[in-house]
Amino acid sequence: MDFDLSQNQTMFRDMVRDFARKEIAPIAQEMDEQSGMPDDLIAKMRDSGFFGLAFPEQYGGLGADTVTYGLVVEELAKASAGVCVMLTVHNSVGSYPVAMFGSEDIKREYLPRMAAGEIAAFCVTEPGAGSDAAALTTTARKDGDAYILDGSKIFVTNGSRAAFFVVVARTPGTTGHRDTHAFIVPRETPGLTVGKKEDKMGLRASDTTVVDFSGAKVPAACLLGSEGDGFKIAMAALDGGRIGIAFQALGIGMACLEEAVRYAAVREQFGKPLLKQPVIGNMIADMGTELEAARLLALQAAWLKDSGRPYGKQAAMAKLASSEAAWRAADKAVQIHGGYGFCKEYPVERYYRDVRVTRIYEGTSEIQRLVIARHLGRDYV
Ligand SMILES: Cc1cc2nc3c(=O)[nH]c(=O)nc-3n(C[C@H](O)[C@H](O)[C@H](O)COP(=O)(O)OP(=O)(O)OC[C@H]3O[C@@H](n4cnc5c(N)ncnc54)[C@H](O)[C@@H]3O)c2cc1C
Repeated sequence: MDFDLSQNQTMFRDMVRDFARKEIAPIAQEMDEQSGMPDDLIAKMRDSGFFGLAFPEQYGGLGADTVTYGLVVEELAKASAGVCVMLTVHNSVGSYPVAMFGSEDIKREYLPRMAAGEIAAFCVTEPGAGSDAAALTTTARKDGDAYILDGSKIFVTNGSRAAFFVVVARTPGTTGHRDTHAFIVPRETPGLTVGKKEDKMGLRASDTTVVDFSGAKVPAACLLGSEGDGFKIAMAALDGGRIGIAFQALGIGMACLEEAVRYAAVREQFGKPLLKQPVIGNMIADMGTELEAARLLALQAAWLKDSGRPYGKQAAMAKLASSEAAWRAADKAVQIHGGYGFCKEYPVERYYRDVRVTRIYEGTSEIQRLVIARHLGRDYV
């Protein structure tokens, strides 16, 4: 078994690491405080090709494989989880449905624009449909060669800045997942309005909004896949998206580990550095071991996806293991910092807030366990 990264993977990771250290990390605290990210940072990321990272080269992307993409996501999350989620939603659930299920005309029309930096968002969650996404009530009524969308989506990452929205809606009067359809909807569509921005605990650099549809007319050509594929497309997008969230959690977890080790090496109590005190050393050893184990799962899921093999089970396992390990690492990092860990002067306070949502979005930890148990049931019964 070869654990070495390819030259290309190392080069991509190092390029993004360098960018993240120079351009993102120094303003991460400020972005958190101001709940946003500067336009010039977005422009620099656009110029560096970050918006086309996971896009096929034929549509203007960099064509990074999933392993490379994961390594890059980890580096971005280490610097700012908020910036990271803006890019991961764009590069995965916001664009993957178009790349995988769009007609050739739709791919040619939208993917190059997305790869060039016109931001994509993903609209599935609704007030009454979270973990149970099939309970969505937004409707898509056929009207000649168009569909009319009506309903409300919540918690839409990139809502404020997005140029395009992948939207899942259903035939009026139906229930369940069969009569659901997925569309690519441009922002300027009359009847689409971006609503309230959430005031969040963490990921404050990233915007999360309500998106309303009121008689929004979408050409039938904007249907992704076939009629009735909506739920399937959303679940396929989330399978891949979960690999990204696993690496995002790992990035935050690794930032916690690095900060905790640095702090414990210089902070002295009882006449010696905390790092030399066995209880603290044990905490650090557990953080490192759990994160490393989770990284292997995430890399395996990414490798399976790149190999064209089924990866849903490993993606769910990776997301569960990484987000839970990173959460424990954040808690320990705050504990190791003592009272200072509770203050904004130290970045672990932000990491602790940022990491929390990785156990919630793109399927909560409870839902990952349901998915994993379903797979294991199929494997062994
Ligand atoms: C910052 C942020 C960004 C987001 N971005 C997006 C986005 O871009 N697009 C999008 O569509 N959505 C997005 N979401 C929504 C996110 O995916 C949902 O919040 C998530 O799926 C959980 O749904 P819910 O909040 O409705 O919780 P609920 O489904 O109401 O769950 C509440 C609790 O009950 C548990 N639970 C529910 N059902 C079960 C069960 N059967 N067994 C055991 N436990 C269960 C859950 O695990 C959870 O702990 C985002 C959310 C946040 C917070």
